[in-house]
Amino acid sequence: MLKLDEIWQKTCNILQHEVTSASYDLWIKSLEPLDYSEGVFYLSTSSETAKQRVLKLHEEQIRTALTEVESEIKDFKVLDPDEKENYLNKPQVEEQEVNKATPLCNFNPKYTFDNFVVGNSNKYVYAAARGVAEHPFDKINPLFIYGGAGLGKTHLLHSIGNFLIKNNPDLKILYVTCEKFTRDYVESLKNSNSKANTEYREKYRSVDVLMIDDIQFIANKTGTQEEFFHTFNDLYQNQKQIIIASDRPPKEIASLEERLISRFSMGIIQDVQIPDFETRLAILQKKAQQEHYSVDDDVINLIAEHCDTNIRELEGMLSKVSFYASLLGKPSATLEDVTEALKDQISTTKQNLTADRIIDCVCKYYSITKEDIIGKRKNKEIVEPRQICMYLICEMLDLPLVSIGQLFGGRDHTTVIHAREKVSDLIKENNRIKVTVNDLKSMANRT
Ligand code: ADP
Ligand code: MG
Repeated sequence: MLKLDEIWQKTCNILQHEVTSASYDLWIKSLEPLDYSEGVFYLSTSSETAKQRVLKLHEEQIRTALTEVESEIKDFKVLDPDEKENYLNKPQVEEQEVNKATPLCNFNPKYTFDNFVVGNSNKYVYAAARGVAEHPFDKINPLFIYGGAGLGKTHLLHSIGNFLIKNNPDLKILYVTCEKFTRDYVESLKNSNSKANTEYREKYRSVDVLMIDDIQFIANKTGTQEEFFHTFNDLYQNQKQIIIASDRPPKEIASLEERLISRFSMGIIQDVQIPDFETRLAILQKKAQQEHYSVDDDVINLIAEHCDTNIRELEGMLSKVSFYASLLGKPSATLEDVTEALKDQISTTKQNLTADRIIDCVCKYYSITKEDIIGKRKNKEIVEPRQICMYLICEMLDLPLVSIGQLFGGRDHTTVIHAREKVSDLIKENNRIKVTVNDLKSMANRT
């Protein structure tokens, strides 16, 4: 077992990617590790309000991250200053409570198929995930899901897990992040006795369903790739189910061995795309309903408009706005609260700008339609604005290239790189392009 501080540090590293930076600074940073006893990890906070907020906003995420870091942890508790004092003075009282700790469950109960909003951007990946959940060990093996950050990959893996466990409680399902898989592997090597090695193999090869999240981190780790290859073969030959998530397709994971790429291709490789406006609205409405947030429709519209590439951020904005309204004692969050609560996120020019807005400007400028720009036509009148548009999005927004490719009808990220380079060369030698790009930049910044 790792030391208390180490466990918490690693958990924070995970949480940093799971929650918005505002929430991380405000709530997660206010927690301090206090104790670990009989499966329960104790954290302390500075006030009772902080405790309530952190539990309301991030209880499941903290629990999942803690169990991911240290599988012996079954539950956690947050203690406000009074409770902390009681805990430190009367440990025997807490010991009784410890026995009531909930059993280990790796899957976040909120991440279910029912809570997953299906739209054009994710209907295929949803169907594939549902297919595996309903008919595991069958045709969809392995299932490889990929797509940008915050688009629901982990949610889908947990949904499959929750579904499988519910219908078949005896199944042995192991969900790990690639980081954990690697860490376990490295640990087994460090111990260099055959027992540690056997235990490691036993752990991964005795399961019925293996899920590895964020497999892209296997890039450049030759030893782990080798081990994973053997684990994969072993499970596959024994008709076990394998499910993998990644932020990019197999062929774009740096140095991923050909033999692994070909293993992944034996099943289904399916991407999850950036949600369109209607899906974003539906997700926000569902979230508001689930969390009992009371927010005006205008607020939901505004958030959906401003945040178009990451559902985690979308949800973060909603919870921040509703928290803000509750601080002011308002029954329902209004537009005014959005402006105030999200001023860091949406009022600066850069963040005000979205990919959709840039695409709109380019379409207006060239008098073409959005369908033209994201479509497949290759005539010069369309290719130039399309490439300029990709260039502007690369330059003006901080978006992953894969996501930009997706905005343009699911193009490969190498196409985006090509467009960016081509336009930046053209700007140097062609004055008309230079003027156009500058005009478009100021047009996008003005709107
Ligand atoms: P990823 O693993 O792709 O980075 P997550 O699965 O962690 O993304 O999703 C980020 C957040 O967005 C989660 O809170 C998840 O519940 C939510 N989310 C993503 N997609 C959907 C969806 N289609 N419907 C409802 N919530 C979603
Ligand atoms: Mg994830």
